[in-house]
Amino acid sequence: MLISYLCTVLMTTATKRICFTQNSMIMYKEAVTNLYDLLQFGEYGDVNPSITDSATFTFLQAKTMADCFTGDAPGCYLYSRHWNPSNKYLADAMAALEGTDSAWVTGSGMGAITTTTLQICNAGDHIVASATIYGGSYAFFKNYLQKFNIQTTFVDITDLDSVKAAIRPNTKMIYTETMTNPMLQISDIPALADIANAHKVLLVVDNTFTPLIVAPAKLGAHVVVDSMTKFINGKNDCVAGVVCAGHEFINALIDVNVGTAMLLGPVLDPYRSASILKNMHTLHIRMQQHSKNALYLANKFREVGMKVNYPGFEDHPGHATLKKMMNPDFGWGGLIGIDVKEASIASELMEKMELAGVGYLAVSLGYFKTLFSNSGKSTSSEVPEDVQRNMGLSEGFVRFSVGLDYDIENTWTKIEGCLKEMKLI
Ligand code: PLP
Repeated sequence: MLISYLCTVLMTTATKRICFTQNSMIMYKEAVTNLYDLLQFGEYGDVNPSITDSATFTFLQAKTMADCFTGDAPGCYLYSRHWNPSNKYLADAMAALEGTDSAWVTGSGMGAITTTTLQICNAGDHIVASATIYGGSYAFFKNYLQKFNIQTTFVDITDLDSVKAAIRPNTKMIYTETMTNPMLQISDIPALADIANAHKVLLVVDNTFTPLIVAPAKLGAHVVVDSMTKFINGKNDCVAGVVCAGHEFINALIDVNVGTAMLLGPVLDPYRSASILKNMHTLHIRMQQHSKNALYLANKFREVGMKVNYPGFEDHPGHATLKKMMNPDFGWGGLIGIDVKEASIASELMEKMELAGVGYLAVSLGYFKTLFSNSGKSTSSEVPEDVQRNMGLSEGFVRFSVGLDYDIENTWTKIEGCLKEMKLI
């Protein structure tokens, strides 16, 4: 009875999932609704699916186990490095959110990025990547991939001619972040997808800063990666990541003979999958509040004459590009940058703000408290200083991940007090 009820419900959900229209607003609304409509039960009708706390799975027939290895036993689980039901629930939810056919969850955002890259690229291949990306991703492309003689050309991702010019015969992928870390540049995903398709390379987009705001796969990205450590989980209690793509790509990732995920094993623990899944269902409310608070603070910083970087400003170079790609219901994002010119000033300001109760001097983002860090000395410290300056990253750049503060006016009063004390305004 329960099983037939579930089958009906799941079939209805599956049918709904393929009903995306080309109109971006409707499309995005459906993507959010798809997540809401995803009915995932435990075996007792438990509203939160039970956590499958097992590494391995038993079979009644030996043949079914053998079929599992060849991919011919749909619905059966074999071993949790490959699939685990709790991971599958979260992966399905992420596929619904990003609008892809399939997804696979990893033990960190870097796990998703490195697994995807090593799945796409072989020794001797070439990558075109945005020069402003998370420092760990930059270091992976620039330093680590040297082991495999995989070269990366870093470009200004907003300069489409330089993207085209950087493509070589052995280029396998274009890599960018929807909203780049930390410069908050905006990647024109449809235009980059056109370039990728024209050159038969894959467009891989890290959507960590903009879940729900932008759906890169719906705009032409072939693979979307997210660090779920950030907004998606939103609790800062674990690191996790996800690769979202078509069935073919995800199945290739977990192929028992040659799949990068199956063989390198960056799998997420099922307990974490279960907790992230619950947090995901409040993401739409959190993203609205992060964006609302960030816009408020960005305006305040500007009003008092600070140099502030926020894509919500009409004069931000990426504003128009983001506007054409975004779901306005979720605003311009929760990240802002201010430039106080010198690293020592940034340090003093951050220490003062922490003491004043503005938030925490900490890396990472998407938490319910405001987090701030000096990018050049922290999450972009892997990027050499001359490259930082070339991309416009000043040594005094402070990145804020604005929290869910109820009383953001009060938060601003505290920040303003620190700025005045330091005679910055
Ligand atoms: N992508 C972006 C944009 C990030 O900012 C980060 C981490 O800060 C990562 C990926 C890596 O994610 P994780 O720390 O979950 O490995």
